[in-house]
Amino acid sequence: MAFALGSPTAPHPVADTDRDDVDVWAPPELRVVCLDIDDTLIDFTETGKRTLAALTGRRDIWDEWERVTDEHVARVVAGELDYADMHARRTHAFLRGLGMDVDLAAAAAFETRRKALLNRSWRLFDDVVPCLEWLAAAGIQLAAVTNASGAHQRDKLASLGLARFFDHVAIAGELGVAKPDPAMFQSVCLQLGCDPREAVHLGDKLTTDAIGARDAGLTGIWLHREPDGELAPRVADDDTENDDTENAARGGAPADVHVLTSLAGLPELLVTEFVRVGVPAPR
Ligand SMILES: [Mg+2]
Repeated sequence: MAFALGSPTAPHPVADTDRDDVDVWAPPELRVVCLDIDDTLIDFTETGKRTLAALTGRRDIWDEWERVTDEHVARVVAGELDYADMHARRTHAFLRGLGMDVDLAAAAAFETRRKALLNRSWRLFDDVVPCLEWLAAAGIQLAAVTNASGAHQRDKLASLGLARFFDHVAIAGELGVAKPDPAMFQSVCLQLGCDPREAVHLGDKLTTDAIGARDAGLTGIWLHREPDGELAPRVADDDTENDDTENAARGGAPADVHVLTSLAGLPELLVTEFVRVGVPAPR
């Protein structure tokens, strides 16, 4: 089994008129599931790598592309750069960094070709639609929570037939705050009217997604699709919590976040961790 059972949530008191002095742990209800988009639902990295290689003839430049992109997205989130200009400016900086003598117009033309190729190439991971259908049937509200800079994420979800599943899409570039800032996760809970304890967030980045969600009071789940070997189960023992050896055996994940290697494991994790999963309702 790819994940460990047990609760990642802190014990919280349950009102008991006869035994007010005793704190009894009770699993919370689950009302909202938040999902990252890129490399969680959509095979973003592989598609991006192939597209960039097709346009440049080089396969060794993806890390630099991500670095320059992250830098520019952070400037959009901080309000220093307009979203409308960001992609062309990012690509201009990237191509100049490769030593290409291009002006902003040439970079914008390259970016137009790159986006056209990307939009024909996106693909979902195979485990996405069955998982979303299960969550929808369970009556759970769904939010897409992305650190991307703009509304193209909604277009991407729509073009892949996923928009119908989501009650809310939270985009860092629109909110002016990004994961792992707790404000990002808490804004989603506020928007959907749930307590953070009634929500989980799952994504492919351990710190940005799983630990960030945990720190905001949600249940954090790391989707670690390609671990090096089989992951050790989480040890629900206070003595080993945050022990480096134990964490390393789980890909570096601390004891109070869950780790899955596939979305296929999410339903079982949720029904194990929450006393009531969703409210059966037509959608
Ligand atoms: Mg991601």
